[in-house]
Amino acid sequence: RRLLNHFISKAPEPTDEPTPAFSFTLAVKDNIATTTPPASTPTTTPTTTPTPPPPSPPPLPTTCASPFLAAYHSPFEATIVTQLRARGARLVGKTNLDEFGMGSHSTFSAAGAAAQTPAAGAAAGTQDPAVRLSAGGSSGGSAVAVADGAADVALGTDTGGSVRLPAAYCGVVGFKPSYGMLSRFGVVPYANSLDTVGLLARGVGRIRELVVGPGGLWSEHDARDPTSLSEAARRRCARGREGYAAGRAGEGPVGGVLRGVRFGMPLEYNIAELDPRIRDAWAATAKRLQDEFGARVVPVSLPTTRHALAAYYVIAPAEASSNLAKYDGVRYGARDEDAASDAAGGVLYAGSRGRGFGDEVKRRILLGSYTLSSEAMDNYFIQAQRVRRLVRRDFNRVFALDNPLHERETFELSELDESIAMEDKWGPEEVDFLLCPTAPTLAPKLERVLNQTPVDAYMNDVFTVPASLAGLPAISIPMPVASNAAGAMPEGPGTAGLQLIGQYWDDARLLSVAGAVS
Ligand code: GLN
Repeated sequence: RRLLNHFISKAPEPTDEPTPAFSFTLAVKDNIATTTPPASTPTTTPTTTPTPPPPSPPPLPTTCASPFLAAYHSPFEATIVTQLRARGARLVGKTNLDEFGMGSHSTFSAAGAAAQTPAAGAAAGTQDPAVRLSAGGSSGGSAVAVADGAADVALGTDTGGSVRLPAAYCGVVGFKPSYGMLSRFGVVPYANSLDTVGLLARGVGRIRELVVGPGGLWSEHDARDPTSLSEAARRRCARGREGYAAGRAGEGPVGGVLRGVRFGMPLEYNIAELDPRIRDAWAATAKRLQDEFGARVVPVSLPTTRHALAAYYVIAPAEASSNLAKYDGVRYGARDEDAASDAAGGVLYAGSRGRGFGDEVKRRILLGSYTLSSEAMDNYFIQAQRVRRLVRRDFNRVFALDNPLHERETFELSELDESIAMEDKWGPEEVDFLLCPTAPTLAPKLERVLNQTPVDAYMNDVFTVPASLAGLPAISIPMPVASNAAGAMPEGPGTAGLQLIGQYWDDARLLSVAGAVS
């Protein structure tokens, strides 16, 4: 019985004892291209006499959990995978996801749903171990692989929360970097203006070391990714940010890292749908940060939050509909030979796409094609872009640091709902980080998720999409939750996700603060 189903393909176990060249195991979401590495590992020189390199195992496919790409092998490897191999990663397999990253529970997969059991987390024994819970999505397989120890680190992609949500559900750490920091070359695009590659691990430390530690990934521009920030832009963005990482947050005892750090609790995140256990845990964390660590926690307002989800679900499908046009059975994707034959009418394109895509992907393509059509464009796509600017401005307003990519902006709000016009309702207090839940609920039962309407599923992303729309770094770390009033133990790992969001390119401080909070 495949209860967890978190891998789509697995690399063969190494025949020898792990060599010193490998310092950690890596699982890679199956929308990230992998090839077989050269049989000898170039990273470190073996200390003993060299043994002949073992024969290369067959390459793993890159399926995106789509029927269309079931047999697809990439001719090249994603930069991020190569970078991690160079830092000691041994690839253990490709993980399950929602097709092309579209979904929140890793159920829309040609490989079948991924799932977690309560035993995969910390609260084993307190719940029925046979029950299957949502692993979150779309990087659900990566989160389960890390939670159950199959990998030390996993790669995911986060377009609207797909690293953070599964991390929250599975009780692990999930980090989404600033947009443009980590290379997306070799990552199958979903929505280009939102896509990022993120990392999952059981603790913050390993992620921090890989991304912002000495020789970290953050500094590496990739000329093959047009959205990768140039060297010059990286230097400019880093100005004003290094102080914290190197100084305040790098020195002294853990408590010292958080002393004086200002956290904002966005009032708009306290929604009616928020599970009371998560609300309590959120408040308890805020109190602990103030009382034990000497941080300051203040309420802040991000008024456009309630529009962010709707804007996201216009923008992401619009970009997806354009991105997925290349899957037609000619350029990419399995050809539907029956449809291509004359007897069937010769409609190769429609036949291949009809068979090749799953229902959720088709839904997104239809949505996106509609909102980009001439009669709907102004009402949907253009409005959503306006909301996106307001979301970004909300963030710029509450952060003490400026956004190095945008000067402080002024907006005309006339065309939008009056109620989202800005007033400095909560005063001019400016903060270093935002502190909020990652998701409104704990991991739901898989059964319930399978019967959900698409719109209900989209609701799970309500707290993660704002940072995506603004391109900001965000991390989900486990936060313990207590049993509810009726005494029912929390589902899943016994934790919920606590999300920390930072200003653009403030990733180093974000990771050091997240390490101290967790
Ligand atoms: N659940 C969101 C969606 O379906 C986010 C997906 C993602 O980040 N890849 O679009």
